[in-house]
Amino acid sequence: MSLIDDLLLHITPGRVTCKKCGYVDTVYRVVKNYYACPKCGYYYRLGARDRINLLVDKKSFRELCTGLGSKDFLQFPGYQEKLDKARNATKEEEAVVCGTASIEGNPVALFVMDSKFMMASMGSVVGEKITRLFEYAQAHSLPVIGFTASGGARMQEGVISLMQMAKISGAVKNHSNAGLLYITVLTDPTTGGVTASFAMQGDIILAEPRALVGFAGRRVVEQTTKSKLPDNFQSAEFLLAHGFVDAIVPRSELRSTLAELLTIHKRSV
Ligand SMILES: [Zn+2]
Repeated sequence: MSLIDDLLLHITPGRVTCKKCGYVDTVYRVVKNYYACPKCGYYYRLGARDRINLLVDKKSFRELCTGLGSKDFLQFPGYQEKLDKARNATKEEEAVVCGTASIEGNPVALFVMDSKFMMASMGSVVGEKITRLFEYAQAHSLPVIGFTASGGARMQEGVISLMQMAKISGAVKNHSNAGLLYITVLTDPTTGGVTASFAMQGDIILAEPRALVGFAGRRVVEQTTKSKLPDNFQSAEFLLAHGFVDAIVPRSELRSTLAELLTIHKRSV
């Protein structure tokens, strides 16, 4: 049984409407199509657990870096309520899930950001979890695969959220100095401080089709540069054409592509 067939056994029957073209279809058909609209190909955003289930060998995922929760240390208005709401809605502690797994038999360390948790904004705990994952991967000579999705730094944590960029980047560099592979997969949307740091530090950078990837928003760039930007600006396809991305990989081919890359880069023992 394939991973997708296995997932279909656990879905709740119902119908979904495509946000892009309005096409209504059954949840079953959308999931079977790798969470994509069967009519226009629009990619539904995936929670971290769905992404992991779609990617790794069955029952191979072992979660790490748990037991960490963000605190409202600045007493930022409304932050605690937003955290509580996100935790209730996603059943996750934070906006990233980390662990180890295997992909077609290749062992990896994995972090997956969850855009359903406060648009996967990068706060102190997101930064700490990803840093710890890189340190674990280095200690165990594992490659890291990171699925990025983020609205950027978490403004409710002020400068502490910005400091995560440097902290994670340091851990990425140490992992790299140990001769270990880091692959990023940019998913919709990857923006702000996440793009400006670890999303773009992969040895190999893949992206899902049509993913929005950028630093500042389109309007800000247009106003600053006083120029008209192309329609596909900040799309994965635009980034590929300009050398920021190595390949765009359809969701249905991600598992086999990553397995192939891991096999090619496997270190001889
Ligand atoms: Zn559609």
